[in-house]
Amino acid sequence: MTQRTAGRTGEDAAAPATIDHGGGVWSIEVPIPDNPLGHTLVHLLDTDRGPVLIDTGWDDPASWDALTAGLASLHVRIEDIHGVLVTHHHPDHHGLSGQVREASGAWIAMHAADAEVVRRTRGAEPGVWLDYLTAKLASAGAPPDHLAPLRAARDSGRMRTLPGLHAALPDREITPGDLLPLAGRALRAIWTPGHTPGHVCLHLEETHPANLPGRGRLFSGDHLLPGISPHIGLYEDPEDATVTDPLGDYLSSLERVARLDAAEVLPAHQHAFTNPRERVTELLAHHEARLTGLRALLATPLTPWQLAERMEWNRPWDRIPHGSRNIAVSEAEAHLRRLVKLGHAEPVPGSDPVAYTAR
Ligand SMILES: [Zn+2]
Ligand SMILES: [Zn+2]
Repeated sequence: MTQRTAGRTGEDAAAPATIDHGGGVWSIEVPIPDNPLGHTLVHLLDTDRGPVLIDTGWDDPASWDALTAGLASLHVRIEDIHGVLVTHHHPDHHGLSGQVREASGAWIAMHAADAEVVRRTRGAEPGVWLDYLTAKLASAGAPPDHLAPLRAARDSGRMRTLPGLHAALPDREITPGDLLPLAGRALRAIWTPGHTPGHVCLHLEETHPANLPGRGRLFSGDHLLPGISPHIGLYEDPEDATVTDPLGDYLSSLERVARLDAAEVLPAHQHAFTNPRERVTELLAHHEARLTGLRALLATPLTPWQLAERMEWNRPWDRIPHGSRNIAVSEAEAHLRRLVKLGHAEPVPGSDPVAYTAR
């Protein structure tokens, strides 16, 4: 493995911040334009066959420039990248994968469930998607004034293109439980559905370079972050009527990664941290408290929309923009699914749109 010097380089002021995590692992801060999240931490992993990226960043010229400048500051040319491992299909992680592949000939690997989302999104007709979204929101109890702009967009034919419409189809599948075929490295794929159906964490099983207690390091994507709880909504799929339980999936995935007992976590946003068990315990307690709070709200029967209006968000409901309300309702529905599955809530017979009540 080659030695690289990390950090902002004097001669290239445009290079983003990079961190040398030791043992042939670096992170590069790739900005997400106009997003409060700020940046994606793209990780660079040296292998005996050349450098591999874990996630790539948002599909935007400024993000691309930051990625290539960051690599250059670590003495890596984009052409040298030989593979891209994608934690999940979201555009802040997979956005630049296609461009990296074009520039380098690298393969792109992703879990099959998220590859399926990419395939579906690429093939999605904006009109079909908009109809699906409108129908779903209506059945969740969205009021006419919320549905009106969606119907107007449909009627005018002026439909915003979806992010992910041009996302790259992966060439390889990440198989959970397997060691990835990376020369000279022991990196195992851990399936962690919840935030997306095919989210994976990648466990670098090698001894921690600073000998921190625990077992290796975990690239956690959006699954486990030090200061944010990732969005858990429904797995949206117009063609699939399966009743999934993404929140239930997420909570079991949290327990799965806690059991790995990693010495350090390298997430895709914010910063690296130690003691993943403690963070998992916090997140499990947060969701437990939230479910208890929602169950109390359901003393009065509520539609998913009405529940979302009453849930706690980062700002008052009347200041949440249209698109974010759709995401909020999806999160309310994921919590309702969980409560129903636990036997703590049930649909009110004959209600339309369906209202739920605590039991
Ligand atoms: Zn994400
Ligand atoms: Zn993300």
